[in-house]
Amino acid sequence: MSFIDTHCHIDTILERTGGTAEALLEQMTPVPEAIIHIACDPDDFSWGKEFLQKKALSGIKIYGAFGVHPLAVEKFSPKAEEGILEGLKLPNTLALGEIGLDYHYEKYNADLQKKVFLRQLEIGLELKSNFVFHLREAEDDAFEILQKIDSENIKAHIHCYTGTAEFANKVLSLKGTYFFGFTGAVTFDKTATIREAAKAIPANRILLETDAPYLAPVPFRGKTCTPAMIPHIAQVLANVKEISLDDLLKICKENTNKMYGI
Ligand SMILES: [Zn+2]
Repeated sequence: MSFIDTHCHIDTILERTGGTAEALLEQMTPVPEAIIHIACDPDDFSWGKEFLQKKALSGIKIYGAFGVHPLAVEKFSPKAEEGILEGLKLPNTLALGEIGLDYHYEKYNADLQKKVFLRQLEIGLELKSNFVFHLREAEDDAFEILQKIDSENIKAHIHCYTGTAEFANKVLSLKGTYFFGFTGAVTFDKTATIREAAKAIPANRILLETDAPYLAPVPFRGKTCTPAMIPHIAQVLANVKEISLDDLLKICKENTNKMYGI
């Protein structure tokens, strides 16, 4: 079984489990072919850069992305911009992200989130980077921004997709190329709407990701999620798409290649 976790936070896993990245990756079964580590808080950029220098551990290839998460926008600064630019220079950095809008928690600052999202889009567009988007409970504002920046040149992974099938269809009608990442959230009892969205989105636009350490799939709920749990997410998506697990994994690998070139 060959798979890639296209979105995880290795440093945050280690905060929960203790131990080193070396030990974590060495113990992973089944073994992912590659992982994409997302550094999305300026305080974690230097850890991310050091981790990416390793390029591979225990045969698992290491890739990354750098950006300021919508829930960390108050840390966005000229220094944070510099950190993103340095991160993007690494040969195994594949995207700018995760960036976007998140209106889930009370007292969110929509104006600041939009400003920081737009600024990072500007940086990425100038550098012709790929993007990782985090869009949560902010579909109207997100769509307005996506329309504004839409072009054939933009390629983005909308990570941990929890939106509606309708919003996905709207995004797919844009000129850019958008992929939708599904996490363990697609396996939960109460998330029929996510499975409906997964059914509606064409198979050639789906990516596998864990968002580890968050959102461990069934049957690991309550545990710390790791990239090794991808097959459980893949199995549910295969059921939704009414195809075999092997076919689903094969399609997602092709999609990962189209999105990230790996
Ligand atoms: Zn994430």
